[in-house]
Amino acid sequence: MPQELQLQVLPEVAASMDLLTENIAKMVKTSVVDIKKITVLKRSIDARQKQVKINLKVKIFFSDEELIVEKIDFPDYKNVTNAETVIVVGAGPAGYFAALQLIELGVKPVVVDRGKDVRGRRRDLKSINRDHIVNPDSNYCFGEGGAGTYSDGKLYTRSKKRGDVHRILELLVAFGAPQDILVDAHPHIGTNKLPKIMQDMREKIIEYGGEVHFETRVDDFLITNNEIKGVKIQDGTIISARKVILATGHSARDIFELLHKKDIFIEAKPFALGVRAEHPQSLIDTIQYSCDYRGEFLPPAPYSIVKQVNGRGMYSFCMCPGGVIAPCATAPGEVVTNGWSPSKRDQPTANSGIVVELRLEDFKPFEKFGPLAGMEFQKTIEQKAWHLAGETQKVPAQRMVDFCNRKVSADIPKTSYVPGTTSVELGEVFPDFLTQIMRQGFLDFGKSMRGYYTNEAILHAPESRTSSPVRIPRENDSLEHVQIKGLYPCGEGAGYAGGIISAAIDGEKCAIKCVESLIHQ
Ligand code: FAD
Repeated sequence: MPQELQLQVLPEVAASMDLLTENIAKMVKTSVVDIKKITVLKRSIDARQKQVKINLKVKIFFSDEELIVEKIDFPDYKNVTNAETVIVVGAGPAGYFAALQLIELGVKPVVVDRGKDVRGRRRDLKSINRDHIVNPDSNYCFGEGGAGTYSDGKLYTRSKKRGDVHRILELLVAFGAPQDILVDAHPHIGTNKLPKIMQDMREKIIEYGGEVHFETRVDDFLITNNEIKGVKIQDGTIISARKVILATGHSARDIFELLHKKDIFIEAKPFALGVRAEHPQSLIDTIQYSCDYRGEFLPPAPYSIVKQVNGRGMYSFCMCPGGVIAPCATAPGEVVTNGWSPSKRDQPTANSGIVVELRLEDFKPFEKFGPLAGMEFQKTIEQKAWHLAGETQKVPAQRMVDFCNRKVSADIPKTSYVPGTTSVELGEVFPDFLTQIMRQGFLDFGKSMRGYYTNEAILHAPESRTSSPVRIPRENDSLEHVQIKGLYPCGEGAGYAGGIISAAIDGEKCAIKCVESLIHQ
């Protein structure tokens, strides 16, 4: 019988199957030759003590007969060429997982996205980085795979529904993600691998009779008697369907504006905003692993920190070890940061959003915008950053200690943010209450993580697209919009997800409800 075992080993042992087998053989009092195979079921890092250890849960196989090759396969997809159509707006994780779920249930998805496929999109990213030109339809947030494609691909979620999470992880593995994501406590995929996975998903959707259309922006909804009838594309083309899954992400401001203009109910939603801090990765390693040098067997260290300052949460968000800060504006005239990292996380810098929770009352100066007040608050800060840094994609930046001492930095070293930085007083980007919280918060962070509060850390502003500033409310049971029948607000943009995994889970949920409703109509 295979045996399961939990153990703690040194990083060099976890990194070598030979050493691991020797260790396990000693623990279970057998010889190495009697162990046919060891499968790692779970892996996490324990850095609480001076000597960092790796926690493992393993399965040990003692006979060849026990070895079954476990291949993760695709679900039983149906050919949906001639089936009823559901329109899926947005080819992000929510949209693609919704489309695949529709196919599994025998319904034909027609996916439309304003952006380009992963290949075409790459050229537009280059233009942002090199020429400071932002294409409002194809950028770090818009295009195939959505905001998740050129990300760190962190796949952890606060979702309590483990079954759902595992199903999404298994699907990602079936589409080519490394098996490690099923095992690691903090799985991630990396920017270099995500585009191919997204492309393979698209090919699967098309192979089974679904459609995927790029450079196809939805500019209007067709609605009769509070029931959706289809969508209108930017060139005037009409696509008709009884159901529309709306998964346009947190940056589709024109969709929020359109809904508001058409008196379709939406509401302002609190989100978080702040800066993106970049430290040398070696410094974060030293703090987190309590050592001078990480060595070759430990991964670049992540960190996660939260403090209460003046009664508000200030916390790290989307931390990217060995990563790069990305220019994530979705329109000319604004500057936005976020972060990504390659699968090996082998860049010399560690970056993280450091954000402060916002409340609806913070949006009061923008109340004339009604449910769009938070979005206008966000937009104003992004535009101010653009002005202050010189009206290009350069980002306003300041050294951390200088920021806390209200001193413009004499120099800003080259950071991972490719379009470049402009040294400014970052207090000018934010409302005073936010600046004050961040100044105190960084001092507090330094007390918990000794070495974190340093002028070696460069702050880039703003980190403003942490989640949607708007909720598109839906019924709890049917998941349909509270007012418009047949419209399914979905994923992060609608306010029902906060990351790749939760957006994918929400996409599947909406697809299931949509098909249930089609069957009963
Ligand atoms: P999105 O991914 O935003 O997709 C929305 C899609 O809708 C886009 O493709 C857009 O082009 C399309 N669209 C918008 N308007 C229209 C329209 N009018 N007509 C047609 N199409 C339209 N999350 C993690 O979990 N882990 C990470 O490591 C991580 N890192 C990130 C790094 C970066 C740089 C960024 C920008 C985000 C990161 N995120 C990460 C967040 C994650 O990407 C999002 O939570 C997730 O992609 C949301 O999925 P979604 O499908 O709801 O929306």
